[in-house]
Amino acid sequence: MTDTLLDIQDLQVHFHTEIGTVEALDGISMDIGHNEVLGVIGESGCGKSVTALSIMGLLQSPPAEIVAGKIEYDGQNLLNLPRKEMDHIRGNDLSMIYQDPMTSLNPVLTIGHQLMEPLLAHTDCSKVEGRSRAVEMLDACGLADPDRLMNQYPNELSGGMRQRVVIAMALVTEPKLLIADEPTTALDVTIQAQIMELLQDLQDRFDMSVLFISHDLGVVSDIADRVAVMYAGTVAESCSINQLFENPLHPYSRALAESIPTLEKDADRLPTIDGIVPDLHDPPTGCRFASRCPQYIGDVCNKYDPKLTSCGVDHDVACHLYTETSKATPPWQTPAPTVSDDIDKSPDDA
Ligand code: SF4
Repeated sequence: MTDTLLDIQDLQVHFHTEIGTVEALDGISMDIGHNEVLGVIGESGCGKSVTALSIMGLLQSPPAEIVAGKIEYDGQNLLNLPRKEMDHIRGNDLSMIYQDPMTSLNPVLTIGHQLMEPLLAHTDCSKVEGRSRAVEMLDACGLADPDRLMNQYPNELSGGMRQRVVIAMALVTEPKLLIADEPTTALDVTIQAQIMELLQDLQDRFDMSVLFISHDLGVVSDIADRVAVMYAGTVAESCSINQLFENPLHPYSRALAESIPTLEKDADRLPTIDGIVPDLHDPPTGCRFASRCPQYIGDVCNKYDPKLTSCGVDHDVACHLYTETSKATPPWQTPAPTVSDDIDKSPDDA
């Protein structure tokens, strides 16, 4: 385990819209160590990208409002930084790769111009040095003939090449933390595998931390050391990637793990999770997964908000199944724990 580089505590983000307030993040907490890859997984609408944009300071306000919480990077709360300092950190230490490489690149500027821009804006290197570093980074990202590529435009490249250019752009200032928001979603499976291999190689080479966002647990398992499972603006479970596969505790995590296709499973009959993510304009009280949970244990789930609680070494879960009394034995191996009829008691007292 590495020491902490980024620490998010109780982050709450709301969006004020014409039809009401969307409670997009409901007090999430997660951290990333130096040289660690944290996978963030969950369905669309669970708050993964909002988390990424909050870290980068790129949420548009209004409509977004950071209601509470803190994002500590290297000991300083990014939410309190003046804009100039945040711009400096964003250009040098934090970088982000977006889902769609075509919309991340400016179609009327050459690849070279776009790669050198962050270097010239955020470092004191000259144009000559900037060009040399840009060419080196294109080469490191596996792009052939990088000198020629510097003078080409995005429309002249294939999808896989564009995503490699986007990765080169994100890494050209050698950030300490790279946020990759579903970087392979828009690519076909073969290119996806190549990009994943490239990201792993670059993470090792540059000793950087990565926050890797995906809705695909299979993809995350290829790269992540630890994982945070998000559901409806909350963190449902946080643990090592091995723990998630060998011993997933939250009913949502188990359902995600079971839905991964394997050679042994009948691809036509993969388990699914009934229902949809709740409308965050009017989120339910208590557990946000309750309406879909196959292990729902009664009113306690609807009445109390389950807090992220330690259930082992580096293994935290937000679920009422894991009270002090039921923690010792995984509940899916035993009958569901009995919850007191007295639901006015705190769930931790149950
Ligand atoms: Fe299911 Fe209740 Fe746990 Fe929510 S708190 S995941 S509803 S058992």
